[in-house]
Amino acid sequence: MLSDDFSISQLAIPAVSVLISFLAYTSQYFFLRFEDAPLQKDEVWKINIFAICIWICYYRACYVDPGRLPSDRKLANPEKQEEPGLGRQRWCRRCEAYKPLRAHHCKTCQRCIPKMDHHCPWTSNCVSHFTFPHFIRFLFYATVGMSYLETLLWSRASIVWGNRNLPSYMGPSIVQLGHLFILFVVNSLTVFALFILLVRSLYSLIFNMTTIESWEIERHETLVRRARVLGGHLDGPGGIKVRIKKHEFPYDIGIWTNIKEGMGGSANIFSWFWPLAATPDRRTGWEFKTNGFEDPGSSWPPPDPDRIPWPMNRADPGDSSLQSYSSARETVEAFKRRQAEDIDRRRPFAEVQRRQRFHDRFQKESYDSDEDRGPGPVYGDDSDEGEESWRNAEGERLRDFGVDEDVEFYDEDDVPLAVLMQRRKQR
Ligand SMILES: [Zn+2]
Ligand SMILES: [Zn+2]
Repeated sequence: MLSDDFSISQLAIPAVSVLISFLAYTSQYFFLRFEDAPLQKDEVWKINIFAICIWICYYRACYVDPGRLPSDRKLANPEKQEEPGLGRQRWCRRCEAYKPLRAHHCKTCQRCIPKMDHHCPWTSNCVSHFTFPHFIRFLFYATVGMSYLETLLWSRASIVWGNRNLPSYMGPSIVQLGHLFILFVVNSLTVFALFILLVRSLYSLIFNMTTIESWEIERHETLVRRARVLGGHLDGPGGIKVRIKKHEFPYDIGIWTNIKEGMGGSANIFSWFWPLAATPDRRTGWEFKTNGFEDPGSSWPPPDPDRIPWPMNRADPGDSSLQSYSSARETVEAFKRRQAEDIDRRRPFAEVQRRQRFHDRFQKESYDSDEDRGPGPVYGDDSDEGEESWRNAEGERLRDFGVDEDVEFYDEDDVPLAVLMQRRKQR
């Protein structure tokens, strides 16, 4: 019987393990019994060394902790808080903790992950500041090892093809032919998919840019294009205008340093390839060097009017303290109403205030310019209605990387007042 909390994702690691075993070991069984060109000793060595490297790196990509915010950092980033012009401090409503730069809240791991790249379904783990080196080594050894296997399979297949006119009893059996065919197809498809993933991860490494950050850059470029059409500004929540200008990505600090930092900080090139290399120092991962091309006042990601918080008094119809009530009962009722509204607003995720899609707003405005401007909230849980369903050129939206989109796309809350007060006291 399957237990209640069973999910299909739990099959990912066993499935990948079966795939590795099938390719690495049944191929050797096939080669050993293939009489026309049995496996050479050095070929046996190479296949098995690749297999060991793949196993070690895969195990570490799956089971090394992707990182968690140390408790002394939960409430404040001591160096960078509240300084005017250092960018807004980010706050995670789910963790109820300070969210460091480049961290994102993973829906599966259920916490903020440092320098989160994406949550990988095939390792059932986050690719993060701490797991990226293991992950990319796994991709590297898998791609190289399987490419090597491809050449061995190719040489046997060409022998079979060359003997196609010989009597059939002289060639391999039907079972062997079927086995060779399946090995060939499975290995080719897998190595192709892994090669693409490896190229993408190498790009991330060389430019020090996570997959999520690549998405953010595309999103930013879209906003810049929108703003160019609309006079340099876009409408933010509560009718505010947000000036949109081109921001440079700040974490690209040169190819050599990017690779070094991405591989755990060691300048020893050998250690980048060593399957047993140490996981990056657990004290790192919360602050990152920047290239300094940006104004000191800016932070990444750049301002996005659809993601910035609503003003605190957004539910009030005007300043309620100025309203007068004719009777005591009315006053009490008004108070109760405001209290209920406050509770509603504070109820953490009951209703994320989704913004209408940009194109819907834009069309509406051009037909009916008297409508109140600004991205009005869309209520409800249908998350395809809001601007968060924006997709990049590859058709990916933020949640496709495994992040919790409700708290990642909609930056609804600033640092809570209670935390600011506590921080002030500590000083
Ligand atoms: Zn979080
Ligand atoms: Zn995760």
